[in-house]
Amino acid sequence: MGFIVAIDGPAGSGKGTVTEILAKRLKLTSIDTGAMYRCVTLSILRNKVELDDIKKIEEILDNINIELLKENGNQVVKLNGEDVSKEIRDNPVNKMVSKVSAIKEIRTKMVDLQRKMAETQDVIMEGRDITTVVFPNADVKIYMDADLEERAKRRYAQNQAKNIQCTYEEVLEDMRQRDENDKNKEVGALKIAEDAIVIDSTNLTQKQVVRKIEKIIKKEKKVKKLEPKIYWERPETKRKEVVRAITKSVLRGIYKIFYRVEITGEENKDKAGEKGGYIICPNHVNYIDAVAIVVFSKERIRFVAKHDLARFGMLRWLEHLFDVIPIKRNTQDLEGMKRCLKVLKNNEVLAIFPEGTRNGLEKNGKAKNGAAFMAIRTGKQVVPVGISGTFKLFSKVRINYGTPIDMSKYKVKGKEKECQELATKEIMDNIVMLTNEKK
Ligand code: C5P
Repeated sequence: MGFIVAIDGPAGSGKGTVTEILAKRLKLTSIDTGAMYRCVTLSILRNKVELDDIKKIEEILDNINIELLKENGNQVVKLNGEDVSKEIRDNPVNKMVSKVSAIKEIRTKMVDLQRKMAETQDVIMEGRDITTVVFPNADVKIYMDADLEERAKRRYAQNQAKNIQCTYEEVLEDMRQRDENDKNKEVGALKIAEDAIVIDSTNLTQKQVVRKIEKIIKKEKKVKKLEPKIYWERPETKRKEVVRAITKSVLRGIYKIFYRVEITGEENKDKAGEKGGYIICPNHVNYIDAVAIVVFSKERIRFVAKHDLARFGMLRWLEHLFDVIPIKRNTQDLEGMKRCLKVLKNNEVLAIFPEGTRNGLEKNGKAKNGAAFMAIRTGKQVVPVGISGTFKLFSKVRINYGTPIDMSKYKVKGKEKECQELATKEIMDNIVMLTNEKK
């Protein structure tokens, strides 16, 4: 699988044009998945197939050949060898395509074709369900949006330029209808993936949108290149142990110069430690709160951190030294998960920020279930931690460890998801209480 940029958004949000420009600039193959659904629609129209005649639709799908080509820099769409680039944008197809694309059998076939297209090349793929269904683990996930009237204006201008006959009102109504259908489909509905970057282009020029997305792609490409280095595990040696001890004491010294660190409830870690490994779950206030936890603990603590943090050389060195576990956020990072479970099985101490991101609580973000999942799975206890302080230079930083939480009550067969939610809530409630607790 190559590098994948996934872009979703409603009709007229500009994703088609932006995708074409970025594909050229960044040497990616552009894939317009809407054109694929349009080809199927055209085929259905031409063969006069009713939309509830699944048998006939399957016949069409078995014999369909869709090609998305580039000729003299222009996109050419071929349906069974015939150039249908213009016909698939005409009104009959426009009116029917969202109903056609709601048919499960059609979606399954298209998603399969789309995944195959990305097997051997770097792609930028746009549509409605690319970030959520086709490639939920894409390297870059963008959701493009704009006001309905603005989108209709743009599509009307595009149609005029292509000599497609229509009125502005027709375009507006068609879009309103398609938005409605696309958002309410049973499968492959248009929605914003949790980790997609949303770009509203209503008040942006095309140039500004392109520049924004280009920056995001370039950053991710860099991280992807570095991945082998980021995921490399530095073997444990005597030398590493000594360097770690020295680094820890230097960082502790620096910390003490710049902050008044106050630690309470440390005995709770010892209590949890009596049963072997455990999970530390603090709130996440600042980039350097993880450092404080590690350097002021006598135990060896292995933090989980978002993988792209390690794109900076010095940070990467530190992360390797302290055996930080890089993890891709909001995706099922199985490799990261396996490493975490291994740490717990080896009776070591793991640390995870359930908020996922800094000040997640304040931002009303939903806490992640990862820590709860691992604690329940391994039977390990969770030590909640409340970190308070502004992290302004020379201010007080308080680290307040709470009573270990036994997670065994949440191990209920058949109710895994609900139990993880409840366990996460208990962890977060404890963290909030510890953060607000007066000494
Ligand atoms: O992108 P475009 O407007 O050409 O897409 C035409 C239609 O195809 C959309 O309105 C939507 O109903 C459908 N579509 C889809 N899933 C995609 C791409 C397009 O359902 N990934």
